[in-house]
Amino acid sequence: MKFNRILVRYGEISTKGRNRSQFTSRLRRNVLGVVSDMPKIKVEATRDRMHVYLNDEDGEEVMKRLKTVFGIQSFSPVVKCNKEKDEIQKTALDMMKKVATNKTFKVTVKRADKSFPYDTNELNHMIGGFVLKHTEGLHVDVKNPDYTLQIEIREEGVYLSNEKINGAGGMPAGASGKAMLMLSGGLDSPVAGYLTMKRGVEIEAVHFHSPPYTSERSKEKVIELARILSGFSGTIKLHIVPFTEVQQTIHQQVPENYTMTSTRRMMLKITDLIRAKENGLAIVTGESLGQVASQTLHSMSAINAVTSTPVLRPLISNDKTDIIDSAKEIGTYDTSILPFEDCCTIFTPPAPKTRPKLEKIEYYESFVDFNELIEKAVNNVETIMLNPQSKGNHQEFEELL
Ligand code: ATP
Ligand code: MG
Repeated sequence: MKFNRILVRYGEISTKGRNRSQFTSRLRRNVLGVVSDMPKIKVEATRDRMHVYLNDEDGEEVMKRLKTVFGIQSFSPVVKCNKEKDEIQKTALDMMKKVATNKTFKVTVKRADKSFPYDTNELNHMIGGFVLKHTEGLHVDVKNPDYTLQIEIREEGVYLSNEKINGAGGMPAGASGKAMLMLSGGLDSPVAGYLTMKRGVEIEAVHFHSPPYTSERSKEKVIELARILSGFSGTIKLHIVPFTEVQQTIHQQVPENYTMTSTRRMMLKITDLIRAKENGLAIVTGESLGQVASQTLHSMSAINAVTSTPVLRPLISNDKTDIIDSAKEIGTYDTSILPFEDCCTIFTPPAPKTRPKLEKIEYYESFVDFNELIEKAVNNVETIMLNPQSKGNHQEFEELL
């Protein structure tokens, strides 16, 4: 059974009266982002519904992609047929045969075209009766059916749907401003990005890369993680920061047990500069309290002192096991656990300070003009736009998984 369009129902946006048009246009943009390789698709967003017109593109594939887009409550594939009684009956039967045996259903008819020769009641019986007669194990239940076969008679044709598929819920990413996600190759930061997007925030990812200490492979891994995250929002911008020189300078200048704190401070400073350039409002990290030396309250406080920009830490109180479960659910787990080095792990001292002192770190850093190095790093950022269909090395990654 080939369907021609998909009816999309909104999630939380329906409750947000004032911003509704902004939300719907954002959702439309995000949906177009996930199907950007299917140029024939047209998307029309009205106040409380969205219609995705397939125009012969692959409907199953489109539905697979819609499932991850935030802001969608549910959606239904819709079949269009001619306004002929026989054709409506046959289409209804084909659709019901496909979904169920030993299930209950009911027919609801909306007759927008008042010139159609049968009224709602007649249509109900005609179609319901036909389906019952030609199937086994289907029963009618008008109160609490497993399936509702919705039929809409319009001027231009008849639309039928009988499936309702749950969407990802949440709010369309981008409807509540933009934040910079500090994206490492690890397990935590992709999950932090996902949770932030789910609340309607657009994410731009920032990754610190230190060649030749970190390989091309580790960079490709982060590109792949950003590509997966783009499935929730349509597109994602990823900034890759050349960090080698800053890291080397830290290691020359700062006592070993303070290098980790200083590295984190420089990362945050650079991310904040990129944020200002890109008009972001906040920074997101995958930190969770107490996990490692850099994630004690003392460390966070010394690191955070470089900026007054809000730093969101959606995973702050989560256990690692919960984060792992989430990573599996959103599809980043297999990529995150690939064993490529990260710039932080390479330079991690054997005994980083868990209670760094701000005065000390500021003193150690004062011997070098870090601002010059930071500026240079920001000016040499490599920026890539990603969407779920982005080519890149993900085929190669799939082979590794
Ligand atoms: P993750 O699993 O996200 O790597 P983690 O438990 O390994 O986190 P850390 O390595 O201490 O913890 O990193 C804490 C946070 O700092 C990360 O969640 C991420 O937001 C940021 N971060 C760490 N390394 C990088 C990097 N190379 N580029 C960008 N951000 C980074
Ligand atoms: Mg890490």
